[in-house]
Amino acid sequence: MLDKIKEIQQQIADFTIDNKEKLEQFRIAYVGRKGAMADLFDGLKNVIQEERRAVGAELNALKDLAQTKFNEFQTIIEASSDKSLEVEFDLTLPNIPNLNGSVHPLTLVRARIIEIFEKMGFNVSDGPEIESDFYNFTALNFPENHPAREMQDTFFIEKSNGEIKDDILLRTHTSNVQIRLMQNKKPPLRSIMPGRVYRNEAISARAHCLFHQVEGLYIDKNVGFKDLKDTLYHFAKEMFGKDTKVRYRPSYFPFTEPSAEIDITCLICKGKGCNVCKYTGWVEIAGSGMVDPNVLENCGIDSKEYTGFAFGMGIERITMLKYQIKDLRLFTENDVRFLRQFEGQ
Ligand SMILES: [Zn+2]
Repeated sequence: MLDKIKEIQQQIADFTIDNKEKLEQFRIAYVGRKGAMADLFDGLKNVIQEERRAVGAELNALKDLAQTKFNEFQTIIEASSDKSLEVEFDLTLPNIPNLNGSVHPLTLVRARIIEIFEKMGFNVSDGPEIESDFYNFTALNFPENHPAREMQDTFFIEKSNGEIKDDILLRTHTSNVQIRLMQNKKPPLRSIMPGRVYRNEAISARAHCLFHQVEGLYIDKNVGFKDLKDTLYHFAKEMFGKDTKVRYRPSYFPFTEPSAEIDITCLICKGKGCNVCKYTGWVEIAGSGMVDPNVLENCGIDSKEYTGFAFGMGIERITMLKYQIKDLRLFTENDVRFLRQFEGQ
């Protein structure tokens, strides 16, 4: 009897099941009521009393083995015959293009600006976007009643009880980083400060409440206006091409004296005059000037020993000129048709 059980056990182990018909054959032979198992259970009554218990246990184990194998293969075969799980490949279908990402144009231009100034020995500095009145205005020589301090230009921070604190604000320029740099490091200083700035303005094609600036600061002994001119002249040629002409126009900023605005030849009409340059042939790219001695003194730098220049430009403005983009809002709308034009740049 035990030999017979071993034999059936081997048969079950050797039985291969790879389709529905084989599964049915297996069921009839080893699981069904009339198969080999039924014969064995029938034979149990002929086994002598002393051995019946042991043989019965073997027989039950064999029955379990057959049932387990049947269940396993039933699951596999049912799953493989389920049409809904089949993946159909049609190798003649056209490929779905694998789209490349692109760097945002403002990031591209920011990186290019940093690259140009780093080659001239400037490093990159960073500072907070939430700032106190001192770092954003007072230290920069803004008079108490300067219009830029008015509510319509500056976002002030509201306290949890709704009260507006007029000495904590979102920075309106990156100049706060210049002040912190001058306070914390001794000259010579040669650094640029790219970053986000905020102004309370209605959003249009030409204005936004959030934009990016790069400011630069160079402080050392005997720094003159010629150094400022040479630095920005070199920048304009590197950024916009060798044929770009640069001019300096006298201007006014509270934190520099003398001050100048920097224009380059209009890239669209090459100086002939068009509606972008308002028919002047020139477009403005930056503001600049020699750091006002008051600002140096506010930061603890001896203005008799040191002089310096500073400049600031809008990254959006440079990007719009470089890529001839006419609407500022495109930068923040995340329109893929716009962004994909900068692939591979
Ligand atoms: Zn023009």
